[in-house]
Amino acid sequence: MNLVFLGSPGVGKGTYAQVLRDALKIPHISTGDLLREEAKKETPEGKKIKEAMEKGLLVDDKTTLAVLEKRLSEPDCKRGFILDGFPRNKVQAAELERIIDIDHVLNFLANDEVIIERLSGRMVCDKCKTIYHTSGNMPKVNGICDKCHATLAQRADDSPQAVAKRLYVYKKETAPLIEYYQNKGLLTPITINRPISEIREKVITTVKAFLTGKIHEIGEIK
Ligand code: AMP
Repeated sequence: MNLVFLGSPGVGKGTYAQVLRDALKIPHISTGDLLREEAKKETPEGKKIKEAMEKGLLVDDKTTLAVLEKRLSEPDCKRGFILDGFPRNKVQAAELERIIDIDHVLNFLANDEVIIERLSGRMVCDKCKTIYHTSGNMPKVNGICDKCHATLAQRADDSPQAVAKRLYVYKKETAPLIEYYQNKGLLTPITINRPISEIREKVITTVKAFLTGKIHEIGEIK
């Protein structure tokens, strides 16, 4: 099952992807995580990526696509995958179509207040990339990952200036993909306004029911 997760920054799609990756037993591929790894490299390319990311801008399509194609060629992607953060514009969507078929695009939605709250207070494990949040998804020990015990950090692009830029870029470049995938009959809206800690199992059962054809739309998970 090849899935794309769409949604505004702050909607929580990375968190849902981590939950559903375990439930569906397919890898979660976040181009943001892949690019952050590239940005750590002390190469001219790595520095260019880091600069774009810290400003909240998109990394160029060629670089992003090369990183993604390499990841998709790994054996664990044969049974399917969850793509989180790709495509981010129409050029990338067309390129993706050239490489592989997509079965479903889940478009994650939440109220504006929820999105604003989720955009602050996020902490990410630098090692295993698990996402924590001050709004009900806290680690057991402050600042330490429950899973691998590494230190948690705030992302450089979670600063207010970078967040504003990311939201602007999303509206301009990525939001048009909603209509693009709707026209292809691949888009399914999924609204979640409650903290994942409260409805984790419901999210899993609903998405599984949808992917196995037991239900034909999702709507709001309450
Ligand atoms: P994310 O972790 O998905 O929020 O992505 C963080 C940052 O990585 C974005 O603001 C972009 O700078 C970069 N990025 C992630 N995915 C893409 C993509 N598909 N195309 C271009 N840049 C991307």
